[in-house]
Amino acid sequence: MGKQKKTRKYATMKRMLSLRDQRLKEKDRLKPKKKEKKDPSALKEREVPQHPSCLFFQYNTQLGPPYHILVDTNFINFSIKAKLDLVQSMMDCLYAKCIPCITDCVMAEIEKLEQKYRVALRIAKDPRFERLPCTHKGTYADDCLVQRVTQHKCYIVATVNRDLKRRIRKIPGVPIMYISNHRYNIERMPDDYGAPRF
Ligand SMILES: [Zn+2]
Repeated sequence: MGKQKKTRKYATMKRMLSLRDQRLKEKDRLKPKKKEKKDPSALKEREVPQHPSCLFFQYNTQLGPPYHILVDTNFINFSIKAKLDLVQSMMDCLYAKCIPCITDCVMAEIEKLEQKYRVALRIAKDPRFERLPCTHKGTYADDCLVQRVTQHKCYIVATVNRDLKRRIRKIPGVPIMYISNHRYNIERMPDDYGAPRF
């Protein structure tokens, strides 16, 4: 009995017409699904390219001059110890105008420093420095810098922090400025011909 029932059921199914079948009268037919109207202003997350268009392989076309250089706290402190003037040393390194940039959380870090680093604060408040406001949660400067260069490929990161350097190296198109031999050096900087130098 069970088998017979099953067969009958199958046959019934087969005889059913699709509700979209052309042989049905217009009014009985299932209307084709309306496409959802897309809001052109809505953020299209899926369409964000995995690789930013400003990068031609590794060559970053958004980089200056003038170069915008995100500095972290220790880069300023090490520069003071090495008696390097930040803006001048940056220009000596890149042979172009450089604008050091300080984010709110780096500034907060510098403000928390002990008295002996007060000179760092004075440097950070130099009018030649550009202040970048932070809108993120938390005050961890490393995360802030990594996040910024991931979103905006127009910066060089100046740091002496090994961990931060390692994190920046994973992001394509972001050169790193560091201190060695009493001067600033640059890593991963594309050369003037547009060919990557790595
Ligand atoms: Zn921040």
